[in-house]
Parts: sequence; C-alpha cells; structure tokens
Amino acid sequence: MANERTLSIIKPDAVAKNVIGKIYQRFEDAGLKVVAARMMHLSEREASQFYAVHKERPFFKDLVSFMISGPVMVQALEGEGAIAKNRDLMGATDPKKAEPGTIRADFADSIDANAVHGSDAPETAAAEIAFFFPGLDVHGR
Ligand code: UDP
Repeated sequence: MANERTLSIIKPDAVAKNVIGKIYQRFEDAGLKVVAARMMHLSEREASQFYAVHKERPFFKDLVSFMISGPVMVQALEGEGAIAKNRDLMGATDPKKAEPGTIRADFADSIDANAVHGSDAPETAAAEIAFFFPGLDVHGR
C-alpha cells in the first residue's frame, strides 16, 4: 500500500471535550504520523468553502454553524494507506453506527457533532491538505 497523506480535523465538540491528545494517540498507535498541524477557529467563509461539496444538502447550514462554534485542530497525517486507515480509526459518520473502539463511537455524540473529519479519497485529501496547508507536499514522498 502506498505512503499517503490525508487531512484530519478534530471538530469543535472533541476539542471542547479536551480529547485532542487521546485522538492523536490513536493516530500514532495506528502508525500515522502528524506532519503538519494548526489549531484555528474557522470563519464562516472558510467552513463553507471547506464543505462546499455539501452546500445543497439540508444539513449544510447547521454543519457550518457547528464547525465555527469553537476551535478545531487540523492536521495532515502520513503513513501507509493513510486515507483508509484514518477513516477506519474514525468510524461511521453516525456515531450510533460506528464500530466500538472507533473515535466516533468513543467521543462523538451525534451525526452532526461527530468529533472528526477525514478525507475520503486521494483527490479530496490533496485538495483538503492544500486548503489548510498551502505549500505542503500533498504526497509525502
Ligand atoms: N452531516 C450531518 N448530517 C447528516 C450527514 C452529515 O450533520 O445527515 C455532517 C457530519 O458532520 C459529517 C459531515 O456532514 O461528518 C460530512 O458528511 P459526510 O457524508 O462527508 O461524512 P464523513 O465523511 O464526515 O463521515
């Protein structure tokens, strides 16, 4: 499996719960390396741009409001099969459906406050890394 980079966001609910360290531990235990990180409070414009793919969905407004409700921790993760590995660590979008032991099963309260974001494909990983870390090599080779 290829060495990859993926974009991860620890969302405002998980930052408020003070579990950044616990989530980082899971990345590290799975062999994912944090290669860039920034803590920030997204503007409405940034959150809307980031989630533009969902702009016609009924939950879009609430999603943007939630993402700007407090600080987030944004990181680029690197490792073998990092995109799929991070998605496995995260668990299903709806924490009620997430496998036990996943980040969302353990730290998320609901489908809208679901603790983490992770890129879902190489193309989105590249675009999302460039969005938050312009200048960072998206491939990590
Ligand atoms: N979302 C929501 N309600 C829904 C579906 C999604 O609030 O019914 C939010 C949720 O925070 C999710 C994000 O929109 O993480 C992006 O949705 P996607 O389907 O891409 O899920 P993900 O890739 O985050 O698992």
